[in-house]
Amino acid sequence: MIKKIILLGATGSIGSQTLDVLRINKALFSLAGVSLGSSLEKSIAIITEFKPTAVVVRKNEHLEIIRNKFPELICLDCLEELASFDFKGAQMLVNALSGFTGMLPTVAAIKAKKDILLANKETLVVAGELIMPLVKKHNVRLIPIDSEHSAIFQCLVGEDSTNVKKMLITASGGSLRDKKREDLKAVTVSQVLAHPNWSMGQKITVDSATMMNKGLEVIEAHHLFQIPYQKIETVLHYQSIIHSMVVFNDNSIKAQLGTSDMRMPISYALGYPKRLDFVDSELDLCQIGNLTFKAMDFERFPLLKLSYEAGIKGGNLPCILNAANEAAVALFLAGKIPFLKIEEIVSKAILEAEFQTKLDFNYLFNLHNKYYQEIINKYGEV
Ligand code: NDP
Ligand code: MG
Repeated sequence: MIKKIILLGATGSIGSQTLDVLRINKALFSLAGVSLGSSLEKSIAIITEFKPTAVVVRKNEHLEIIRNKFPELICLDCLEELASFDFKGAQMLVNALSGFTGMLPTVAAIKAKKDILLANKETLVVAGELIMPLVKKHNVRLIPIDSEHSAIFQCLVGEDSTNVKKMLITASGGSLRDKKREDLKAVTVSQVLAHPNWSMGQKITVDSATMMNKGLEVIEAHHLFQIPYQKIETVLHYQSIIHSMVVFNDNSIKAQLGTSDMRMPISYALGYPKRLDFVDSELDLCQIGNLTFKAMDFERFPLLKLSYEAGIKGGNLPCILNAANEAAVALFLAGKIPFLKIEEIVSKAILEAEFQTKLDFNYLFNLHNKYYQEIINKYGEV
């Protein structure tokens, strides 16, 4: 039976790579519902090619044009409505939204009993404590798309989780990895966006340069694999060939390797538990020659250290960490603050946070918006 897919964030980096995987596997999947972004041209191209049943349009001014051009199409009001829409038949939701926006649609989809294929790491960072029990309660699958988590997920297949000694999350180091801290003061947006290995959306590319991305991934791994922070380590691996590893109690290490092509983890998540054929991007190990590893430098990347601390303390701190980071990254991308100010803003938010352990989705929604807006207001519109 053809599996029906709902794709949130179809016009982004993960979204368009997901469409590519669907294109390769037309006989297995159909795109039932899709959330479109701010480009009208991209949105029209997606509807024309994949003929979804329902969409959510990001920009109000596009709505009339899309309705006129595609009279059969159902235009829904919001992401949550799309995430929980009943398309009849087997359904999976691919969440490729960036940032906190991804949280509530994930919740809506879980409650509507859809399997979740999750690229949007912010969902688990902010609300992992609430999401994981919800996944269990509604008996749905949560399969990671983030390459490190996909690697760990694959390493764990067939293993008893009690035999896991630790997880080793690899980090490319991002675009500024060869620079010393004193050289970071004057880096430009375009320098930061020039990632050596991966082509990704702007927010995650900045997060890679600050190492915040690895911090978010550590928190994501903690929730997803229900593993204590003390058993999650990070290691610098410049080539991004080993996507992450698991060390077992007999000191045996399993790793998952591949090129830096996100279509692979997307393909794995869509096909799970089967593997889909994938003809591109075969890894040529002889051409790579060497794989290198370096201990993580927490002094050089203080936001990673801060993420561990916020994760270990838990409660509302990961939400505050994420909100402050989203605001700071938006300000940096808009040219309002220098690169190192990102660290300063996020650290200050955590230092001054009022710690709270009692969480619900409504509280997190308000908390995120409060922090995000206050920081944006302080430094100017983005
Ligand atoms: P992009 O910025 O490229 O894409 C994000 C998508 O979400 C776009 O379609 C965007 O629309 C849409 N979107 C963002 N905000 C809203 C909103 N408020 N309402 C409606 N739509 C919205 O991000 P990426 O694809 O790079 O990343 C997506 C997620 O996947 C992130 O959580 C990231 O951390 C994670 N991830 C990404 C990887 C990558 O290689 N890119 C690797 C591993 C994880 P628009 O077209 O208007 O921008
Ligand atoms: Mg990743």
